[in-house]
Amino acid sequence: MEKYQHYIDGAFVDPSSGRWFETFNPYTGKPWAEMARGDAIDVERAVAAAHCAFESGPWKTTTASERGALLRRIGDLVARDAEKLAAIEVRDNGKLMAEMLAQVRYIPQWYYYYGGLADKIEGSVIPLDKRGYLNYTKYEPLGVVAIITPWNSPLMLTTWKLAPALAAGNTAVIKPSEFTSASALEFAKLLDEAGVPPGVVNIVTGFGGEVGTPLIEHDKVAKVAFTGSDATGKKIYAAAAQTMKHVTMELGGKSPNIVFADADLDDAVNGAISGIFAATGQTCLAGSRLLVEDSIHDDFLDRLVTRAKTARMGDPASLDTQVGPMTTLPQYQKVLDYIAIALGEGATLVAGGKPAEQPECGDGWFVEPTIFKDVKNDMRIAQEEVFGPVLSVIRFKDEDDAVRIANETIYGLAAGVWTRDIGRAIRMTEALHAGTVWVNTYRATSFMSPFGGYRQSGIGRENGAEMIKEYLQTKSVWMNFGAPSTNPFVQR
Ligand code: NAD
Repeated sequence: MEKYQHYIDGAFVDPSSGRWFETFNPYTGKPWAEMARGDAIDVERAVAAAHCAFESGPWKTTTASERGALLRRIGDLVARDAEKLAAIEVRDNGKLMAEMLAQVRYIPQWYYYYGGLADKIEGSVIPLDKRGYLNYTKYEPLGVVAIITPWNSPLMLTTWKLAPALAAGNTAVIKPSEFTSASALEFAKLLDEAGVPPGVVNIVTGFGGEVGTPLIEHDKVAKVAFTGSDATGKKIYAAAAQTMKHVTMELGGKSPNIVFADADLDDAVNGAISGIFAATGQTCLAGSRLLVEDSIHDDFLDRLVTRAKTARMGDPASLDTQVGPMTTLPQYQKVLDYIAIALGEGATLVAGGKPAEQPECGDGWFVEPTIFKDVKNDMRIAQEEVFGPVLSVIRFKDEDDAVRIANETIYGLAAGVWTRDIGRAIRMTEALHAGTVWVNTYRATSFMSPFGGYRQSGIGRENGAEMIKEYLQTKSVWMNFGAPSTNPFVQR
């Protein structure tokens, strides 16, 4: 079995406790590597290294342009090693090779984009209302950023945080998910080659309570950039408040994908399938509630079920596999539990609904693409995030009804609308409470376009130029060049 150590202060090191834990291949259900089991001592070492690199190492005097060049080198190295990184993620996570190759080949764009932005972060000179003062602002990095990621797109979601954090001049301690830590450590092997000074990026692997908790409680961590479940996000938000840390939270969703009768129904079927079965439904932005207008409901459902039943399941490393396994055993069990809950609530099963039995699925943690009809929006299957290949189909009468159902959730991550009516498309984009609204497409994201949640789907945004401010703080500088000295007991 392979063994992955922590990455602290530019070196791969054993866990201080001497303990390790196994990471599994979801396609075989067997362990394939051992990961360092971190604890508070490892966190202390990593935060100390990151803090020292921020305060006094070469990173502190690196110019913004030099940081930009360094980020671009990281991007080039990821591009060079894309196939290797993709293969690790497929093995550790069960993600499809077809998706991973595209994803890893796209990741360099974040390093190029934020590398380009690094030296374009400009403050301003304020035309003050007071004579004799020069007042200007500058943006400064926050310090040590804790990056905590989930298991579903580990390398991608690390990149969304690390690229802007480094471009802004911060240092980082990354805690990947205990289920899928390997890709972050493979990525770390590139950092030295790229010229990243020791301590600027550190990785401590392990469990939420053992590594995550001391990390988010550490007084030298200035910000927590988190992607994960809303339950963990709430705990982290509360803990971060104790030392007034900055936070960005990318949490879960129960996103509505809304099909009107006037839509191009072939496109809409593709959009519904990609919304829920791509990545085996293990995406925060899954279109897990499919809202279908009454008049086309039965016909649309027939097409959807026919298509879902043709999905090829099997070895995720094979380029023609379309639906891979669940990434973790607990998640596999959770999805099966939700299927039982939906049946108990009175939803009608029209596709899937059980573990996959095809020989190509071997001992992997596969659940068949599953579709329920007759779902009511107040059922648990419509309100709670399943995070698997389970679609709830809900019918609606008209536009107002669609908006009401779509917005009746605690979440607000994303929404899809399928219509040929431009007026309706615009009305829907205005009415939906979601951080991203797609019209006649689903699941598109870019390094250039802000992504994040309304309501309990999160705080702050990732991607796009503006969000680099999530990793900066503003300093206002006042200089007196001739303002008269006035009464010191009266505020100026
Ligand atoms: P999770 O919340 O269980 O774990 C996420 C990370 O937090 C892991 O690294 C975990 O070890 C760590 N963690 C757990 N408890 C902690 C604690 N007390 N203190 C500090 N860290 C702790 O989430 P998951 O099951 O790994 O991922 C699935 C969830 O992530 C889903 O809810 C999904 O919607 C969400 N997600 C959101 C987005 C988005 O951008 N909005 C993207 C992907 C996934």
